[in-house]
Order: sequence, then C-alpha cells, then structure tokens
Amino acid sequence: MKIAVYPGSFDPITNGHLNIIERAINIFDELIVAVAIDTNKSTLFSAQERTDMIKEVTKNIEKVRVQSFSDLLIDFMKRNNANIIIRGMRAISDFEHESQLALMNKKLAPEIETIFMVTCSKYSYLNSSIVKEIAGLDGCVSQLVPEIVEENLRKKLLNKSI
Ligand code: ADP
Repeated sequence: MKIAVYPGSFDPITNGHLNIIERAINIFDELIVAVAIDTNKSTLFSAQERTDMIKEVTKNIEKVRVQSFSDLLIDFMKRNNANIIIRGMRAISDFEHESQLALMNKKLAPEIETIFMVTCSKYSYLNSSIVKEIAGLDGCVSQLVPEIVEENLRKKLLNKSI
C-alpha cells in the first residue's frame, strides 16, 4: 500500500493545493494531507480551522485523510506508515527551498522519498498569502479558493458573510 503525505501550512487551502491533491490520489493508494500546527509562518487560521476547511473541501474525494501534526514530518510519516512526501512546485523560485527541505528529510530518513508535482499552469501564480492579501482588501477570490474558504476569509478578515 503506497501512502503519500502532502504536508503544508494550508493557510488557507487554495485551488492550487486542491489540484495537487486531486492529481496525487490517482497515483497513490492513500493521501494524507498533513497540516502543520507549528509553522514558522504566523497563520491567519488556527490549525483546527485549516484542518476543518480541508476536510470539508475533500470530503467527497476518496482515499484522502486530513490530519494535523506538530512534530517532525518524518516522525509523523513513520507513525502513519507513509514513505512518500508530495510537494507542489510552482516556479523556479520554489526550487531552492523545496530542494533544501527534500535533502534534509532524505538525510534524516533515507527511506522517505520526496516527489514534486508541477502545478497546473493556471495556478502557478497562486499561493495562500496572495489570497489573504486580496481578500483582506475585499477583492474577489472566488476563482482561487473553494467557496467555504472564501466565506471564512470574509468572516475572518472583513467580519462579514458573502
Ligand atoms: P508550506 O508552508 O509548507 O510551504 P503551503 O501551504 O504554502 O505550505 O504549501 C504546501 C505545498 O503546496 C508546497 O509544496 C507548495 O509548494 C504547494 N503549493 C502551494 N500553492 C500551490 C499551487 N498554487 N500549485 C501547486 N502547489 C502549490
């Protein structure tokens, strides 16, 4: 059984993340979306909120499990019998940071492989920070995130519903 883990801060999940999830489940038997509780970024949404949003938007996708973690990624993976890390690659600017992470994880746990999936071109400019910036200025993010995320962004940033 090939279990892959897609880790990230997902603050919040975007259509770019979802695209990676939908493509990854065609390759693996199970995909665990792993929400980092303690990220070195300060997050808008709590770990519980980030996890709940991912659960909601992936509820109809078979083979996807959503869990949060606060220890080392490789320890989380060992506990879950997973040995593949999925990361998304948008532009060459992602490469340096992503390859450093992959090499460090390889050093810590040689049996774990990192696999990069290149983003679908229409999401190559998309990240959670830009979504928060646009939503915070009352801009429309409906093409960028699932509806429930858009709603929560509005509540959180503008204190209003759609
Ligand atoms: P992290 O803080 O771990 O970078 P993110 O939530 O920002 O967490 O990203 C998680 C993963 O999803 C990373 O591998 C990132 O490159 C990837 N990713 C983020 N946005 C996109 C996108 N638009 N298309 C494809 N992959 C993406």
